[in-house]
Amino acid sequence: KANRRFHEDDSVIDIDGVKVGGSHFMVCAGPCSVENEEDTVALAKALKDAGANTLRGGAFKPRTSPYSFQGLGIEGLRILNTAKQETGLPIVSELMGTEHIDEFVDMVDVIQVGARNMSNFDLLKALGQTNKPVLLKRGMSATIQEWLMSAEYIMAGGNDNVIFCERGIRTFETATRNTLDLQAVPVIQKESHLPIVIDPSHAAGTRYVIPSMAKSAVVSGANGLQIEVHQDPENAWSDGQQCLTPAEFKDLMQHINILAEME
Ligand code: PEP
Ligand code: MN
Repeated sequence: KANRRFHEDDSVIDIDGVKVGGSHFMVCAGPCSVENEEDTVALAKALKDAGANTLRGGAFKPRTSPYSFQGLGIEGLRILNTAKQETGLPIVSELMGTEHIDEFVDMVDVIQVGARNMSNFDLLKALGQTNKPVLLKRGMSATIQEWLMSAEYIMAGGNDNVIFCERGIRTFETATRNTLDLQAVPVIQKESHLPIVIDPSHAAGTRYVIPSMAKSAVVSGANGLQIEVHQDPENAWSDGQQCLTPAEFKDLMQHINILAEME
């Protein structure tokens, strides 16, 4: 179902009024984790002014260590909804297991499947029973073929609203957290009609690499970006080292807009 053979035209996915796919570009920005209402709402306003059209924020966090901050849970989704009311930005948030799927269907506009869950087939099957857009991140050691088959698990259940998200893969290189596979853009777009967005934040793992890779992603023909932004990266509760400040994001967006128009 994800294969271009069955759907010649690019699929355009509707995220509560915001379109992604074809000529429609998604700019999703926000903190790694939602921390509190005041900062989230203020940040969402700044991101919207800078040109973001969707808001990301983690409420359930897949942390490497069980002793690290695990997210605010449902309270985080409530805060994101307040930010949506204030800005109109649709919400993207990660669901880690099937337990909270009903709350996510009610409270978020795009359900993110994290890299660590790309092969959680029970979760993918459950998402196939909904009609929510799903942002399917590439597993850190997954081939493009395996990734396509994960989309197939969602679509097999009847949910065609899948957006691929390349977020870097594990290689021998250690200068960056992961290695961004921009070749996935033309490969996915050849194999599939579904949109693909690039997350340079989790690929780079370090702030200074992000603008260069975000701009490259636009030129590669990607259908969107997902970028972590925090009002005070030094003090972020997760992934601060790879968060842009709102001012850095605004500056980057000026370049992105010029490149996106040229495409
Ligand atoms: C995230 O988006 O904060 C995240 C944990 O991403 P990934 O699943 O790509 O590591
Ligand atoms: Mn993160």
